[in-house]
Amino acid sequence: MIYQNRIKYADNKPVNLAGEYVLYWMEHSQRIKENTSLLYAIDSANKYNKPILVLFVLNPYSPYHNNRHFQYMLQGLSLLRKNLFAGGIQLHLDVGLPVDYVLEHSLKAVEVVGDVGYLREERRTRETLKTKLKVPFTLIESDVIVPVEFASDKEEYNARTIRSKLQDKVPLFLDKIEIPEVKVHSLDLEIKNSFSFYPPTGEFSKKLMINHNVKSVSYPSGEKWAYNTTKVFLTNGLSSYKMGKNLVADGYQSGLSPFLHYGQISPKRIANLAKEESSENVEVFLEQLIVRRELAYNFVWYNQNYDSFESLPDWAKKTLLEHSRDDRPYLYTHDQLESAETHDKYWNAAMKELLITGMMNGYMRMYWGKKILEWVPDPVEAYSIALHLNNIYGIDGFNPNSYAGIAWCFGMHDRPWKTRDVFGSVRYMNARGLERKYDMEAYLEYVDKL
Ligand SMILES: Cc1cc2nc3c(=O)[nH]c(=O)nc-3n(C[C@H](O)[C@H](O)[C@H](O)COP(=O)(O)OP(=O)(O)OC[C@H]3O[C@@H](n4cnc5c(N)ncnc54)[C@H](O)[C@@H]3O)c2cc1C
Repeated sequence: MIYQNRIKYADNKPVNLAGEYVLYWMEHSQRIKENTSLLYAIDSANKYNKPILVLFVLNPYSPYHNNRHFQYMLQGLSLLRKNLFAGGIQLHLDVGLPVDYVLEHSLKAVEVVGDVGYLREERRTRETLKTKLKVPFTLIESDVIVPVEFASDKEEYNARTIRSKLQDKVPLFLDKIEIPEVKVHSLDLEIKNSFSFYPPTGEFSKKLMINHNVKSVSYPSGEKWAYNTTKVFLTNGLSSYKMGKNLVADGYQSGLSPFLHYGQISPKRIANLAKEESSENVEVFLEQLIVRRELAYNFVWYNQNYDSFESLPDWAKKTLLEHSRDDRPYLYTHDQLESAETHDKYWNAAMKELLITGMMNGYMRMYWGKKILEWVPDPVEAYSIALHLNNIYGIDGFNPNSYAGIAWCFGMHDRPWKTRDVFGSVRYMNARGLERKYDMEAYLEYVDKL
């Protein structure tokens, strides 16, 4: 039952019984608890009486990754390495192309287990591995509650359509089956690399300094923090989640997106913890965590153009292109936007929050994306600028939610609204709406102090 429907791919290549270890190539599920891929690797290692090698490859060639993301990941991974080691499992780290290192380490492996990847580059890597690996390769999906293809076999139109499909399936996957403790029988593995990788220093650090403008952030990282943040939010923040009256008050949002993005906690664990709460906001929170999040995974899985304007529904593309020559009261370049130099103090504050903290409040993200559409002369270019800024600076960027979030600002998963300049029939947002809903002065003050 633990693996049921979670095994996304498994081939029947012959097992290499002379192999020294079972290789778990960890990419998305950077955790021990409720990590189905790790559990599968442990079961296999115990079956063959071999140790496990966990391989993690930091990929400096991935389109958006930079020092900010690497520092965050390494902080979590260094703690993870200690905890794995305590359970008799080694974590080995390399910097380069995952495909090269997985192939290299597979030469001494009994078999290879990996996490499912959803984005283009991740899928390409897995396709290459499927053809090049000489030992069995198994891919397991444990970073969504309902595996994407089990949830739906096609691209969903919006939250309503996927919600109805998820309804009956979610309970099957929110089972309370306790995933057993990490225990490998054989620990007989020579230590591969034991250098301390966090904080990164020397040559190792230089390899990670890909974009010098993007500074690291102080957001906590690691499995323990992910759990603590979940508990603090559920205890103190969930009761005010629905109201969301304040953009800056602690607890209005969970702040869980970085932990989820790096797989430091599973969505299943968060959902089960949330269900133990009696707050009337549990359902509202689960709507975001399950329906909205899994709609984003559905989007990137089935929409081949998920990272461009082309991904949008026909009505949205048509209306935006028809209105692309409308007069725009303000026009900004990529650099002006990146420097938070617009006439709009709220937008600038949101951009600064992203630049400094790597995070932005969920409501401000919508406003932020809509204004980029309004202020860049061409909607196709606006789309790519929004994606670029989101993914470079967001600590949770380069995630299925990043693509669905930007696409939403341009009409995806939404319906046509009253037609107006520039936006056509795509939903519009303005500063007055922010002021009506939130204490914007408090938000400005908060960002000023960052
Ligand atoms: C323009 C734009 C860009 C975005 N970029 C990202 C991004 O790069 N990374 C990212 O994780 N999310 C992104 N989102 C979605 C959402 O805004 C964030 O997930 C949320 O603000 C993260 O804060 P939180 O964890 O405190 O959210 P909470 O409100 O506490 O929600 C809990 C979790 O539910 C999920 N969730 C919440 N809202 C959404 C949503 N609208 N769509 C999908 N899942 C959701 C997230 O996994 C989130 O961590 C973006 C949204 C927009 C409009």
